[in-house]
Amino acid sequence: MFYYDSSFLLLIPALIIAAYAQFKVKSTFHKYNKVSSQKGYTGRDVARSILDRSGLSDVQVMAVSGELSDHYDPMQRVVRLSESVYNKSSIAAVSVAAHEVGHALQHQEGYAPLTFRTFLAPVAGIASQSVWVLILLGIIFSIPSLINIGIVVFSVTVLFQIVTLPVEFNASSRAIVQLENEFLTQEETGSAKKVLRAAALTYVAATLVAIAQLLRLILLSGNRRD
Ligand SMILES: [Zn+2]
Repeated sequence: MFYYDSSFLLLIPALIIAAYAQFKVKSTFHKYNKVSSQKGYTGRDVARSILDRSGLSDVQVMAVSGELSDHYDPMQRVVRLSESVYNKSSIAAVSVAAHEVGHALQHQEGYAPLTFRTFLAPVAGIASQSVWVLILLGIIFSIPSLINIGIVVFSVTVLFQIVTLPVEFNASSRAIVQLENEFLTQEETGSAKKVLRAAALTYVAATLVAIAQLLRLILLSGNRRD
């Protein structure tokens, strides 16, 4: 049965890395959310200040519920910061706020990977919802072409994960440039890098999981063809 086939082993290292990344991002965020930055700017202050000076006064900064729910919405042109980022002046809060503004700066500049990612997002959403239905129907009714369509559809979600990587790394480097000396001291900037690196690891892990799943699907369809 496909549930027990050995290709499942492919997923295990990726899932271990993903679990580690989740643990790491939470523990690093919590650690540096307890450390106040010396200059005392809140996440909101930092976001507002970088946006205003970059000619993005019309981009709003809003508080949103949830933990690590911070994001930039390119459709509404809003930087949404979780409550523990919006109101806090911790090193973690300031780092996350500057990272999200990094996405607004990418948008302003027409940074190609972000444009491509925004275009791909709705397609990838539909793809990730429909892929397992296709595969399952393909297996139940023994229709190999459905499995092959599932593989093509799943490739879109893998591509989406891959395109996310430069977008995230670039937003973090933009954040560090802004934070250095202006909002954080040199030593604090070192800690900010740790927070943003931990966040980046979750995207790397998600990409590895997606690639491992794609490989598994390809192996699965190959086995069934034999
Ligand atoms: Zn980001």
